[in-house]
Amino acid sequence: MSPLTRARCAALDAQDPLAPLREEFRLPDGVLYLDGNSLGALPRATPDRVAELIEREWGQDLVTSWNKHGWIELPRRIGDKLARLIGAGSGEVVVADSTSVNLFKLLAAALRLAPSRRVILSERDNFPTDLYIAEGLTALLGKGHALRLVESDALAAAIDAETAVVMLTHVNYRTGTMHDMAALTEAAHRAGALMLWDLAHSAGAVPVDLTLAGADFAVGCGYKYLNGGPGAPAFLWVAPQHQERFSQPLSGWLGHAEPFAFEPSYRPAPGIGRFLCGTPPVLSMAALEAGIDVMLAAEPAALREKSIGLTDCFIAAVEQAAEGLGLDLVTPRDAARRGSQVSFRHVAGYPVMQALIQRGVIGDFRAPDILRFGFAPLYTRFVDAWDAAAALVEVLRSRAWDRPEFHRRAAVT
Ligand SMILES: *Cc1c(COP(=O)(O)O)cnc(C)c1O
Repeated sequence: MSPLTRARCAALDAQDPLAPLREEFRLPDGVLYLDGNSLGALPRATPDRVAELIEREWGQDLVTSWNKHGWIELPRRIGDKLARLIGAGSGEVVVADSTSVNLFKLLAAALRLAPSRRVILSERDNFPTDLYIAEGLTALLGKGHALRLVESDALAAAIDAETAVVMLTHVNYRTGTMHDMAALTEAAHRAGALMLWDLAHSAGAVPVDLTLAGADFAVGCGYKYLNGGPGAPAFLWVAPQHQERFSQPLSGWLGHAEPFAFEPSYRPAPGIGRFLCGTPPVLSMAALEAGIDVMLAAEPAALREKSIGLTDCFIAAVEQAAEGLGLDLVTPRDAARRGSQVSFRHVAGYPVMQALIQRGVIGDFRAPDILRFGFAPLYTRFVDAWDAAAALVEVLRSRAWDRPEFHRRAAVT
């Protein structure tokens, strides 16, 4: 195969049907941003939308905005838009709280539905908050529930008659490996267990069809590929056949059937509304909606095709030049098993990433030794993949990373 060149990458950009959408984002000059899987970039529409909400809706219309500007509807309205990205129907998704809190609500609901089963099954390499939330919940319940962790390739075989719920992240945050959602969901159901998917690295990055997979629950994150801004609210989905059967323990007033009846005891709202808890963060909701609107302008199949193209290019550009430099690809070579990121292991991963960031190539580091590069297909170009690979190779060859300031760990890596 002939080696990849920068000219070839530029030609791919010229043919890219999604290329115009990059203009919908504000990206700083001189920066190659490959960390949209940690914090998505700023959509151009967001500052004006948030300013308008503050000035006109909050400033002028004050409390009447809950009705007049539909603030009270935001969790459901944005949920319905998001549903289109994850193969869910309208009335099945709400935007609320953080991913961690939504996991708590759904796991608790799932355990209530399977009272004779005691095991939450997950994988050892799942994102830690998912595991911590399961630990906290089982301790709180005090009924002998346990979180059981196995390696990724042992999951299907580990689902048994004790398993109440299988809780997995669809695309692994560290390696970028994507699970077969339909196959694992089927394996869970065959054993009589419920299936909960965390879509933090999937929504807006890879095609997801929760309905087709027959899943039971899902959560996901608003500030990564959905470009909702730092700390954006998260979302949750409950399959329609379960919505009326489930109750969740964070029984706040906005999940009540009639919040403004101010009754002394809780009655859950019909449908997905019962998974709400308290007052929505309206400013953050507006920013998230602007991010999702940009995403909805893209054809999902085109997003996936570009994501695979970008990650393929980056892997090829790095590997054809980095022989003997100590990089080890941990993301699957098979594009069908890959999310929208590429991770390489390197013994000096942390300082290497700091040296890259100093050059304006922003990825991130995940302990113990992983360099992580996210390829958000809405705004990343093929030449960005090429230039980032060239910068990585240069940093390694020159050992530019081996300076004391690059070894100092910051609070957020
Ligand atoms: C980013 C991420 C989260 C984030 O949870 P928050 O409660 O929003 O901080 C949760 N799970 C996974 C798998 C993630 O990647």
